Amino acid sequence: MQLKTKGIVLYETPYGETSKILNVLTEDFGKISIISKGCRNIKNKLRGVSNKMNYCEYTISYKENGISTMIEGNTINSFKNVFGDIKKSIYSFYLIDLINQVLNENNDKELFYLLANSLIKINDGLSPELISNIVEINLLKYLGVSLNLDSCVNCGNTSDLITIDLNNGGCLCKNCYHDGYLFQEKSLKLIILLSKIDLGKIKELSITDNDVFKEIDNFLHEYYSHYTGIYLNKKDNLMKI
Ligand SMILES: [Zn+2]
Repeated sequence: MQLKTKGIVLYETPYGETSKILNVLTEDFGKISIISKGCRNIKNKLRGVSNKMNYCEYTISYKENGISTMIEGNTINSFKNVFGDIKKSIYSFYLIDLINQVLNENNDKELFYLLANSLIKINDGLSPELISNIVEINLLKYLGVSLNLDSCVNCGNTSDLITIDLNNGGCLCKNCYHDGYLFQEKSLKLIILLSKIDLGKIKELSITDNDVFKEIDNFLHEYYSHYTGIYLNKKDNLMKI
């Protein structure tokens, strides 16, 4: 069946002399495998649309339980600014890898929009660190361990929230907090804000306080290591790799 679908290439594997097998996250089918025949030939028309992080509208011969075949691809966004900047590239590849790990547990089609929007926003110049944190918070839902940042996990109170309790996966209000880690007020406000942001709609996002960002990043790192099988890179390590 020949059809069109938007997709982002997650991984590419050389196949035979001149072809590639691509793992593509598509708008309509989640993650699928597509063979791009002859795309490693210099003059092949599929060459430019068969690389990792290509975001295209693909025409494919679709096979539901097997490898689909690419017929053509039209670029939607070439992420020119991402490829021209080491930091943006590292974060974008990090997000592709992270979302791919989540797709192995949950092939939800919504993840396509999360990846597309995050790459578009990094390309548009928004903070790669905070975009990554937004994605990390959003992904928890697909792993079945969402954070409850709307109300106190103990009593349901929606005001006077003062920290996040790692063991209960959500906020605690000042009446329910007894001991344990206490978030800085600014960090708590920012992580709650990040959890509510609609990635497709934000226009500006930058880090104003590095300590606040680090606290949020450390917390997410801890939370992932406690509740998911996924290792989250700390952002200050990413640039060292
Ligand atoms: Zn409470």
